[in-house]
Amino acid sequence: MTKPKIAISWNSSCGGCDESIVDIEDKILDIAAKVEFVLWPCAMDFKYDHVRALPDGDITVSLINGGIQNSHQEEIARLIRKKSKTVVAFGACAWLGGVPSLINLKNKEELFKSSYLESISVENPRKTLPAIKSKVDNCTLTLPEIYDTLYKLDDIIGVDYYLPGCPPTADLITDLFLKLIEGGLPEKGAVLAPARSLCISCPRNETKPDNFEIDEIKRIHEIIADPEKCFLVQNLLCMGPSTRDGCGCSCIKGNMPCTGCFGPADKSDQGAKMIGTLGSILKGSTESEADRVIDGIADPAGTFYRYSTAASMLGRKRKEDR
Ligand code: SF4
Ligand code: SF4
Ligand code: SF4
Repeated sequence: MTKPKIAISWNSSCGGCDESIVDIEDKILDIAAKVEFVLWPCAMDFKYDHVRALPDGDITVSLINGGIQNSHQEEIARLIRKKSKTVVAFGACAWLGGVPSLINLKNKEELFKSSYLESISVENPRKTLPAIKSKVDNCTLTLPEIYDTLYKLDDIIGVDYYLPGCPPTADLITDLFLKLIEGGLPEKGAVLAPARSLCISCPRNETKPDNFEIDEIKRIHEIIADPEKCFLVQNLLCMGPSTRDGCGCSCIKGNMPCTGCFGPADKSDQGAKMIGTLGSILKGSTESEADRVIDGIADPAGTFYRYSTAASMLGRKRKEDR
């Protein structure tokens, strides 16, 4: 019997999603025996020409992590889409832009200035910046074009499924592989984790009263958090109410509030929903009182949209045509 062909590819990502596949430990060996990997740049030495040589639609499933921020990533994503029956946006970066999409609050010039000129770990006396073509001796060196915007994967190519998480958990990845091999995937377009808020499965949910108020927001290092009590009740910002369930509450179990990596539970704007939740529990109804509490949040965009800037209302209104 022909084995299903699997491709794994990465774009603007940290490598953690690739690593999370290895995190399924010995199950990777069972899976590897049942599938044929045709591309996995992080782990195996395939060449893109191998993929170009495949017939269109020949790859059973491609798992793509990371958003798209340069012309090489766009070219490879389009190639993989053409060669694949099914594409999964793997992890928060591919689904929603992830942490790297916070760059969409700036532009390319500011990115270059910060990364190549001002960063304290960079020494660049000639103020060299990345260029698509550079002459070095008698050679012309080329680099991909870096875009002004970081795109989530489905801004560029069609996506069939979305696997949440930064990175997705080993259980969700194992379940995905089993369903790819044995069947049982839901209808196309689905996010492969329960469509309900993390609070529903949180072991601290029963300590969160139906009605309560907070008068300030503290940062986690400012108090010794009670390991049993809902973080919000302790004046600590926890993104659980606006975050999708399915991670096993791993941060909560480590006595850390949720930062929202499983994305929204529905099609809502994750950050706006959390701001709405805060609005309903903040003590005092005056604008200045609300401002005082919100001022206690050190980095509002990075707090409410840490994983979803590219998909959010903060995302660029005008993007280059791709
Ligand atoms: S989703 Fe998280 S782990 Fe995966 S590539 Fe993005 S930053 Fe890394
Ligand atoms: S707000 Fe956070 S700590 Fe409280 S119930 Fe929801 S997920 Fe749990
Ligand atoms: S608790 Fe929140 S931030 Fe932590 S893994 Fe779960 S969804 Fe992600």
